[in-house]
Amino acid sequence: MFQEEEVSILVIGSVALDSVKTPFGTRENILGGSATYFSIAASFFNKINIVATVGEDFPKKNFELFRSRGIGLDGLSVDKGKTFHWKGFYDYDLNTAHTVATHLNVFKDFNPQVPENLRNSEFLFLANIDPDLQYSVLKQMKKRPRLVALDSMNYWITNKRKSLDRIIDKIDVILLNDAEARQFSGESNLIKAAQAVLSYGPKAVIIKRGEYGVLYFSKNSHFIAPAYLLESIFDPTGAGDTFAGGLMGYLSKAKKVDDASIRKGIIFGSILASFTVEDFSANKLLKISMKDIKGRYDHFRKVTKF
Ligand code: AMP
Repeated sequence: MFQEEEVSILVIGSVALDSVKTPFGTRENILGGSATYFSIAASFFNKINIVATVGEDFPKKNFELFRSRGIGLDGLSVDKGKTFHWKGFYDYDLNTAHTVATHLNVFKDFNPQVPENLRNSEFLFLANIDPDLQYSVLKQMKKRPRLVALDSMNYWITNKRKSLDRIIDKIDVILLNDAEARQFSGESNLIKAAQAVLSYGPKAVIIKRGEYGVLYFSKNSHFIAPAYLLESIFDPTGAGDTFAGGLMGYLSKAKKVDDASIRKGIIFGSILASFTVEDFSANKLLKISMKDIKGRYDHFRKVTKF
């Protein structure tokens, strides 16, 4: 899966059991969570370690699944209580997730501990979770990672705005979907929204627009990428985290974080996400190989060339 000269990636985020309803079916308590999708996607490129918590109800087979992909679990603690649970649904507009319930469960009292040997990780992803936990993990790093990216959502923008502002000032890249960027900035135009988000301190912002693709803005450049066109989308849950895993996985492999590699990473992220949405949970992502990813990458090149 990955080569010897591996650079390690560290992620803190949710490891969850999700209950999801889409126009195409319903599933209860399936494997989900921002750190889950991120790490499975990143595992195509490099060694990845998770910092998170699960409850005693977390199925054993999922630990095996993570291990089988080389995902490090030293920072994944099993705590008394239930695993984080998200319940949501999508109508025919699959770009919008409707949350029915968010049960933080074991995350409520979680005090993340980054294992000593992971405090030098070069790439850090603060996946969608309580911004105070994201801050705590960043503080524990021995040296500033080469790249720190962060994702969040309406739940935290509404409930933990001050904490979110504090952490956003300390990171390099923030990823938000279009509704979150608008909510965070109070701007409806996405260029203005991106500029407003940048004024909080990050060097770049990526706005995810579901089936319409991705916008990337840094202080002096921007990039627009369409989504990989698919005939059938089954369940969009996890697309954003998978995108981030593809992007950071690629950057860690390229060992460069310049404009050109970020653009390529955005395409890899979009392609990884295109697999996630083709089935519930990470089912499809777990069936593919690098050959499938490269196949879509070449196809993407052809259909966007002019
Ligand atoms: P996305 O990539 O945005 O579709 O993220 C989907 C994942 O986010 C689901 O598998 C959920 O378990 C997880 N999730 C939902 N709400 C939250 C939350 N408030 N904090 C952390 N993770 C969440």
